[in-house]
Order: sequence, then structure tokens, then C-alpha cells
Amino acid sequence: MIDLRSDTVTVPSAGMREAMMSAAVGDDVYSDDPTVNSLEERIAELLGQEAALFAPTGSMANQLGLRLLVKPGEEIITETNSHIVRAELGAAAVFSGITSRTWLGNRGILRAEDAMEIARPNSGPYLVSTAAIAVENTHNFGGGSVQSIEEIAKLRALSNPSGMFMHLDGARLWNAHVATGVSLKEYGQHFDTVSVCLSKGMGAPVGSVLASTKERIAEARIWRKRYGGGMRQVGILAAACHYALDNNIQLLQADHQRAKKIALACQGVSSKIIDAATVETNIVALDLNSLSITAAELSAQLKDAGIASSALGPKFLRLVTHLDITDADIEKVVAVLPDLLQRSFVA
Ligand SMILES: *Cc1c(COP(=O)(O)O)cnc(C)c1O
Repeated sequence: MIDLRSDTVTVPSAGMREAMMSAAVGDDVYSDDPTVNSLEERIAELLGQEAALFAPTGSMANQLGLRLLVKPGEEIITETNSHIVRAELGAAAVFSGITSRTWLGNRGILRAEDAMEIARPNSGPYLVSTAAIAVENTHNFGGGSVQSIEEIAKLRALSNPSGMFMHLDGARLWNAHVATGVSLKEYGQHFDTVSVCLSKGMGAPVGSVLASTKERIAEARIWRKRYGGGMRQVGILAAACHYALDNNIQLLQADHQRAKKIALACQGVSSKIIDAATVETNIVALDLNSLSITAAELSAQLKDAGIASSALGPKFLRLVTHLDITDADIEKVVAVLPDLLQRSFVA
């Protein structure tokens, strides 16, 4: 099976397993794990933040960040199709008493004005105050869209004077960095809290990191334990993350080229299905509204041909490239997928 459901499906490579096997470890609840400690320092430095905390999932890293920035009864605002409001099962409300409102962005793309238009900071004693704004980069359900550093800087400049914080869901910040050449530090510097995942395209089996100030990270450490996320000799996982940082960042470029190939083949059937120019990273989001079949039906047809995909909406099919996909796999996809699209295309 050529598995394009997500970039989370990668399995650790031989080299990564080697690194995990030989990792120095200790009890991380006592901050005694040298491999976790060095990973936290390394990622804080990369993101231009003071400190960082290893977390088992990106959702936990996001939720720790949000609770540090937003008090119970205050709100977070973000884009409508953001992971934090669509794919974390209401965690901000359930764990932290945080409400949320959203703005809709074309392919999830940030425009500072869209956020500022709905922002209501310091709303007094009768209305909900906006405490923080969350930005997703790259934007998953938007199709791997890269956020412009200029819009991020602009949003910071517009929101900071009224005391609103900014959280970056950077699960795929690595992809944005590789696609644009903008440094991780340049992206990170505009935010109060930043989460990154090593378990997506970076290929680690587990591992996310939250970065922020020393003070906030000390508080996040307490909440992580309270959430049941205090882990012990977890340096074996941090070693996989170190390995990913050493070896896998540059490999993302190939994922992006492969996604582009799939997009171009689909665009060849109709530009209504996808505009290949919008595919900047490793996610191919197909709009099937001009087709007579649903995403679930197309996904089933692809599965029969040995290709796994994700039907994320009635007419929304997502294909994600990653480091376990080869050029030969892509050749097969572009031999099969356009024909299936053509068959049910309604001109
Ligand atoms: C995958 C992902 C996360 C974190 O997901 P986990 O499965 O909890 O690790 C967060 N944000 C985005 C945009 C993601 O794609």
C-alpha cells in the first residue's frame, strides 16, 4: 500500500532506531534525562525562545501553550479550519475553560486584518475578552499552506499593543522553513508560545515540543505532569527527534516536489480540482466539487489500486507525501489518480 493518508505514518529508519538504542537516558520527571534536556535546549534555540518542553503529542504541546496564554472564560481566536479548533476535540474548552471564535481564511491563509476584525481584547466585565490569537503554519486542512512572514509580523504589530498573545501551531513549521528559506527563528520570534512536531514529516515515532519563556515553560512542566504527560526515560524518543533534526529536515524538499507532481497530474484533468501553484509543501488537497463522486468513493477506488488517502470532507480528499514515499510510488499515483478523476469529471 502506498500510504498517503498522512505524514504521521512514517516508521523510524534504521539510523533513527540506532540513535534511539544508544541514547543516554534518565528520569525526565526529575529533569534527569540528558537527551531530552539537550533536545529542549536545541529546539528553544532554533525557535529563538528561552526554553522548551518535550511533549508526547502536538495536541498536548498546543494545549499547554493555550492554557498559559488564556485564562478560563477568555477566548482564543484562530482560523476556522485550524487543528486546535477542529482536531483537538474541544480540549481548550474541556481542560482550560477557554472559548474560541474563528475567521475563515482562503486555504487557511493568514491575513492579519481577518484576525484583527474579530479580535476583542480587553472587553470589560460583560463580554468575552480575546486573550490570544493562534496561527497554524503550515496550515494542514488548508492544504499545507505556508503563512507569510510579513502577515505574521503585521499581526504581531497590530495585536501586541492591546496585550493579545500569539501562539504558533508549528506542527509542520519545518515544511514552511524548507519551502521559503525563512529561518525557524524568524518564524518563532513573533510568538509567545510555539509548538512543533517531530512525528510528522520529520519521521520520529513520537515527539512534540512547546517553546516559550523560562517562566511559562516551568508552568507548562507542572501542567504536563497534571495532564499525565510526565514521562520517564524518554530520551530514547528524544534521540529519534535529534536524529530527525540532524538528517531529515532537508529531505522535506523531496516531499514537496513529489506533492507538486501529484498536484500537476490532477490539475491536468481540471484546474477546478486543484491549482498546482498552491501546493507549496507536502499536502495535496483535492476539491471534488466538479466530480460526480464523493471523497469517500474516490478514496475507496484508490485503495483498490493500492493507494491510501484521506477523505476529510464529502468532497475533500487529502494526499500527504512523506519520507517513506519513493519516486516510484509517485509514478504509480500519477498513473492511476488522473484516470479516476477523469472518469467522474463533469465538464
Ligand atoms: C498533527 C497536528 C498537530 C498535533 O497532532 P498530534 O496528533 O496531537 O500530535 C497539531 N497541529 C497540526 C496542524 C497538526 O497537523
